[in-house]
Amino acid sequence: MIKLHDLEFEPYISEKEINAAIEKVADKLNEDYRDANPIFLGVLNGSFMFASEVIKRFNADCEVSFVKLGSYEGTKTTGNVKTLLGLNQSLKDRHVILLEDIVDTGNTLEEINKILLKEEVANYEVATLFYKPEAYKKEFNIKYKGIEIPNKFIVGYGLDYDGLGRNLTQIYKRKENMTNLVLFGPPGAGKGTQADILKEKYQLIHISTGDVFRFNIKNETELGLHAKSFMDKGQLVPDEVTIKMLNAEVDKNEGANGFIFDGFPRTAAQADALAELLKLKNTEVTAMIALEVDDEVLVNRLLERGKTSGRNDDADESVIRNRIKVYYDETAILKEYYKKQDKYYGVDGVGSIEEITQRLSAVIDKLQA
Ligand code: AMP
Repeated sequence: MIKLHDLEFEPYISEKEINAAIEKVADKLNEDYRDANPIFLGVLNGSFMFASEVIKRFNADCEVSFVKLGSYEGTKTTGNVKTLLGLNQSLKDRHVILLEDIVDTGNTLEEINKILLKEEVANYEVATLFYKPEAYKKEFNIKYKGIEIPNKFIVGYGLDYDGLGRNLTQIYKRKENMTNLVLFGPPGAGKGTQADILKEKYQLIHISTGDVFRFNIKNETELGLHAKSFMDKGQLVPDEVTIKMLNAEVDKNEGANGFIFDGFPRTAAQADALAELLKLKNTEVTAMIALEVDDEVLVNRLLERGKTSGRNDDADESVIRNRIKVYYDETAILKEYYKKQDKYYGVDGVGSIEEITQRLSAVIDKLQA
């Protein structure tokens, strides 16, 4: 890990991978421009390493020039692009290949294209070392792409964070400090109420699998119809269905600060699936926080909620008792699962809403410190 200014970065793409991508681009350029005497236009400052490596591998006549245009200010694309500096020769009837270190929104590229396409060139293409398909919003087709990356902030190999990091010979990405909480506890423990408060306080995305199922039931989707038969009896919806749904919910929230998982995981298989999913996103479960509430308090709370919630599974005491039983039979093993990883925090779930929020916040504040 390295630190540039105030931010921490971790290794992301090795020099070997970068070189392989450059070879690939250079091979294509050699094929396409063998007898064309192209002009390579490197976009400064970021493309200097890429430009050098690509041009070294170009085996025929070519010319080289550099232009300059700022695009990044801090970690955000500004969209506020300057004019093109350094273009001091005519490009009329020439084969021009613009060399970019990275194309993300395409704002910079669009500005440069506007200028270069006025030059009556014979042919104009762009070669970029990195490309962010999720961020690119423009029409212009980029013909030569080295490595496609997700919408993350990267530094190294010419790319900087506020001036630093250009000299790094591999790519680093911003270290993710997501807070991913599994809010745990038997039905009626107050998870939903607390999650609503905590998601605002800590700017996290709240995913309640129960709510997602109910939404699907209401809208009579295939998923909803399938889940309903299990839910009405107080049984768990099969893992395969639930895990698929959870993955989709997490994927909808790319770039989130973190998640509050409420009602998930409920089985060891779900916990494994969650670990795998978060690992793909380069993060992990930060903690399981469990609201501890006595059974009889739960039954009374749920019967009370059933008077207004309209939920079939809240209306019948035997279904409620079954849900609590299912929780202890199948779900409580997760306490052990996270305890083993030193990630389990029990919180007394009896008291006023504010008191319980305070107890939960004390744990979260400590985790984030
Ligand atoms: P909840 O709103 O969390 O009490 O969930 C209501 C019902 O939705 C549960 O009794 C299950 O039938 C179903 N459900 C919610 N989350 C899950 C999950 N992670 N795995 C399986 N079934 C679930």
